[in-house]
Amino acid sequence: MTTPHASVPEELIALRQRYRLERERRVRPDGAGQYRDTEAEFGYYAADPYTAEPAERAPLHDTVDVAVVGGGFGGILAGARIRQQGVRRVRVVEKGGDFGGTWYWNRYPGIHCDIESHVYLPMLDETGYVPEWKYAPGEEIRRHAVRIAEKSGLYPDALFSTAVTSLTWDEDSETWIVATDRGDEFRATYVVTATGTLSEPKLPGIPGIEDFTGHTFHTSRWDYAYTGGTPDGGMTGLARQRVGIVGTGATGIQVVPMLAEDAGHVYVFQRTPSTVDVRANCRTTAADVGADRAGWAHDRRENYLRIVSGETAERDLVADRWTASAGLLEKLLPSFRRQGDREAFEAAYELADAAKMNELRARVEETVADPDTAEALKPWYRYACKRPTFSDAYYPAFNRDNVTLVDTADTHGIERITENGVMVGDTTYELDCLIFATGFSVGASGITSGKLPVHGRGATQLLHAWAKEGPRTLHGFTSNGFPNLIQMGSLQNASSVNFTHILDEQAVHAAALVAAAEAEGALIEPSREVQDAWIAVLAEGAPDHEWFHADCTPGYYNREGRGRPNGPIAYPHGAFAFHELLARWRKESMAEVLRARTAARG
Ligand code: NDP
Repeated sequence: MTTPHASVPEELIALRQRYRLERERRVRPDGAGQYRDTEAEFGYYAADPYTAEPAERAPLHDTVDVAVVGGGFGGILAGARIRQQGVRRVRVVEKGGDFGGTWYWNRYPGIHCDIESHVYLPMLDETGYVPEWKYAPGEEIRRHAVRIAEKSGLYPDALFSTAVTSLTWDEDSETWIVATDRGDEFRATYVVTATGTLSEPKLPGIPGIEDFTGHTFHTSRWDYAYTGGTPDGGMTGLARQRVGIVGTGATGIQVVPMLAEDAGHVYVFQRTPSTVDVRANCRTTAADVGADRAGWAHDRRENYLRIVSGETAERDLVADRWTASAGLLEKLLPSFRRQGDREAFEAAYELADAAKMNELRARVEETVADPDTAEALKPWYRYACKRPTFSDAYYPAFNRDNVTLVDTADTHGIERITENGVMVGDTTYELDCLIFATGFSVGASGITSGKLPVHGRGATQLLHAWAKEGPRTLHGFTSNGFPNLIQMGSLQNASSVNFTHILDEQAVHAAALVAAAEAEGALIEPSREVQDAWIAVLAEGAPDHEWFHADCTPGYYNREGRGRPNGPIAYPHGAFAFHELLARWRKESMAEVLRARTAARG
């Protein structure tokens, strides 16, 4: 926690006070409990609008080499890297109607990735693809996901519009039984779980939400049948409509300018303003990124990871607002603790933070003509308390006559939804269409959420095995008692803003584990001792995030204002160092997780 200090400049003391007040305006006693899952009576909000009628098929009862749960970039990359090792039958099981994960679901107007496309899109070296924009539109990214899946031969065995409902280890055959909601019960020698962290759309639990009789949907299920148009705009269906949008996070920032172009009137219901930095998107050529050189994409990605992981790099190849602000992102990194004199470092850090936030607040003032609207759009918290966003079209949208900003901070968000619209204070905003850009439940899918039960040796449930001491893994990937199960994600592993890079490294690691087990005719399973040793490594350098997150305005970064849990949740020295550690381990220590099989391979 920040404490007043005799030598703290007046400006910083005033800022701290303002930040505290703005946080208090927004913290709610119900924390994450304020949200509703898109299930049961709200299941409509999660239905797939892109593949209305899943193809009819008979349930499967066959055997494959590898089952991959999830067909987003994690699952695609795991499948691709495992197939590169010569393993033939890899079956990806995916809830959506095609590959793509978040890029399958999110097709809202204006969708782009705000990480540079040349480092975000994986396997550019292998596929020979060179993105056309510095920040690619969503459809280009979705098509690249499909491209990798096609090139890697993942389509013939893939199951779409299918959710895995349980994973059960069969001791006799030493295979996993994979059950799905389409009646499948097939076997797999290995299972890789790649279910994503922000994959289940969530809704605000606003009283009366079910009473609204106008049209409504979540941004991750955009209803083009209603709005008309495409992600590039042209939403003629909204021409005379009064449209409300709830949420001004990374998604809302991209959607609002597009709605402003096409809708009769747009009401933007804001609770906390985002930081909106310069985007400066531009067309790029292969020459711009040195794509004529073998390994160019690999090198660029490594360079980016170095910089955003707080490592030194000779050059900044991407050179955008993420890398320019990388120093300020360091407080989010487990490696933050490494910085020498903590007090002096934090003091310098706070000054740099204030300078950056002043610059961002000045950007609002310079762009937005109406002073009250400009004031309400200014973010009052430290940089990266909420996920940074980037747009050159968002603030100008508020200078249009058909856009109204409705600040809901004083009422802790929208107070009530009625049949006809949205109530904030004494005002009801009558609407024809209400769009929720309210984000996703963190870690709500997959094996750690409890929604996908995993039974390992002796029918032990994974979450029961972890109930007492918390998760126990080696490197986040494998667990004692759960042979041949490889988990992808950031638990006890490492993370970065460029998450596809993390996923690709994880996929390479998963593929190496499978290849080693295949070569030795062995099972993959760490001993308890190996697991304990890894937990000790994590615990030894466990960062203290509390000092930063506890003062932050609420959001999913700090469990809606409750702070971040301390403890061994991630590798303490950052993603770049973690990748080096994994590469070394694969060379020197892989044998420690290989165990003799007892059953013959079928
Ligand atoms: P977020 O969770 O970031 O934002 C949800 C928004 O809904 C917030 O503005 C929140 O306000 C608002 N909200 C929630 N409840 C209420 C309420 N009752 N009344 C008023 N407002 C409310 O979701 P996003 O979909 O914007 O982004 C999720 C994540 O997806 C991002 O953080 C990012 O990781 C990823 N993403 C990445 C993109 C990319 O380009 N790479 C693009 C888009 C998303 P408050 O802040 O006050 O809680």
